[in-house]
Amino acid sequence: MTDVPLPERGTVRHPAQPFGASRAGAPLHVHGPLDPGTPLVLAATHGNETETTVALSAAMRMIAPGELRCAVVLAFNPDGTLLGTRGNGAGVDLNRNFPATDWERGTVRSRWSSRTPQIVELSRGDAPASEPETQALVALVERLAPPWILSLHAPIGAVLEPEPSALGDALMARTRLRRLERVNYATSGVLDTWARERGIACVTLELPRITHDEAVVHYAPILADLLRGDL
Ligand SMILES: [Zn+2]
Repeated sequence: MTDVPLPERGTVRHPAQPFGASRAGAPLHVHGPLDPGTPLVLAATHGNETETTVALSAAMRMIAPGELRCAVVLAFNPDGTLLGTRGNGAGVDLNRNFPATDWERGTVRSRWSSRTPQIVELSRGDAPASEPETQALVALVERLAPPWILSLHAPIGAVLEPEPSALGDALMARTRLRRLERVNYATSGVLDTWARERGIACVTLELPRITHDEAVVHYAPILADLLRGDL
């Protein structure tokens, strides 16, 4: 496959379709094919992890229209992205709001920065899938019936999956990141668990703590191959 020439990478040429709206009314967009059986790749579940959107957008812009084989959500949490917050506009951590059987009420803590422990409090939502973004993604996944989901996060620097998969193996080989079976804090109501309970493999690619430029240099080519179905 030939990469799109650099002068033509300024805009996303793959048409987008709305699949819902955020709490503040921002459109949730998905690019690419939406036929049943299409894999799903998403970024910016946490609005302060914008390097995930930059890497995934660059990957998509390297691919000619017609060669995209995945459904792509560049910003699952547009309100958090605009506000610069991990949570959505209501202060809910969307990756604790999925209606998995282990969802629980209460707060979840995250780091203020790499210099602090996990101390900043966010909500898990008033109920499972209380947030419009979560509801929209649940409906999108039900429509796509994807064989797998890849969710991009940062900055742990690992391929996160509870048990090895072909996708995880391929990502480890290309990125040289380690595999982690789980993170060292409680994660109830996460996308991975909800998807797995429906028989859908879900791998989390945790980018390392890198600049946006390094995300494009090192990860966009790998993600471009993934989006073409060539990984
Ligand atoms: Zn994250």
